[in-house]
Amino acid sequence: ISKENGKNKYTMCSSFLQKQIEVNANLTNSLHLAIQRKEFILNYQPQVNAQTGEIVGVEALIRWNHPQKGLISPGVFIPLAEKNGLINHIGQWVLQEACEQNNKWQKMGLKPIKMAVNLSLGQFLNPNLVEIVENILKKTQLDPAYLELEITESIATYDVEYITSTLNRLKDLGVTISIDDFGTEYSSLSRLRIMPVDKIKIDMRFTQGIYRGTKDESIIKVMLQLGKTFGLKVLAEGVENEYQLRFLKENQCDEIQGFYFYKPMPAEELELILRGNKNI
Ligand code: C2E
Ligand code: MG
Ligand code: MG
Ligand code: MG
Repeated sequence: ISKENGKNKYTMCSSFLQKQIEVNANLTNSLHLAIQRKEFILNYQPQVNAQTGEIVGVEALIRWNHPQKGLISPGVFIPLAEKNGLINHIGQWVLQEACEQNNKWQKMGLKPIKMAVNLSLGQFLNPNLVEIVENILKKTQLDPAYLELEITESIATYDVEYITSTLNRLKDLGVTISIDDFGTEYSSLSRLRIMPVDKIKIDMRFTQGIYRGTKDESIIKVMLQLGKTFGLKVLAEGVENEYQLRFLKENQCDEIQGFYFYKPMPAEELELILRGNKNI
């Protein structure tokens, strides 16, 4: 009996896997066509000054408006795009669209804000990255000071010379660099010391652990201190309540991004908010 059970289990498992593989293969196929079919959209989530609540930037977050499946979140299709090399293509579209949008807002006379764009590891390691960013800045005519590129700690494990020289070349264009999901992956302090970055973004799993003396509170205090020591701005992600906000303000966190203030939203919605933001 046990043998038979085992066999059944095996069949079940493999058919489940088979299905997963098929689902991914289908998604990957339609991912190829998604750009030309204009199925991607960007949402924008405001980043605010922790002390004043004023919007100082937004993060561009991609969504896939799939004709059959509806809105698909980046957590689902970005990893697929990273695996099959489409990420460079998609990433370029994101950069272009985000820069264009930010320039549009500025031309409307809205108070200039930063546009933060996520870069996947595959994009960062693309030898043409710097030229791509440069061309997009030229084409969209966005002042580079209003573009921020978000990288992850995972790049810190690659050749340090290549990384620092790429980051320096990007910074020479006039853009700023932040480290996303800070604290979740391996990155040594000596690497952080030499990496030319401007900001760290505390991952939301720490923010969401803020509660009356938890270890996460201590870790956040260390990160804020680290930011001061290295002359980096610190942003906390995933702020959802008043208590978390108060803790971060009291500990001199610079910027906040989270549902407590704003969720990611379409450009038109943000535009209305920015019109109000002018008078803050
Ligand atoms: P991320 O870059 O760390 O982006 C922040 C994510 O946290 C977003 O999820 C945002 O909606 C969510 N978030 C923000 N505040 C809160 C909060 O208070 N509570 C909770 N529960 N969540 C909050 P989203 O949009 O689903 O994006 C997930 C990830 O997908 C991003 O994490 C990023 O790694 C990746 N991603 C999104 N857009 C792009 C893109 O254009 N290119 C690349 N390469 N990756 C992207
Ligand atoms: Mg990000
Ligand atoms: Mg993050
Ligand atoms: Mg991330």
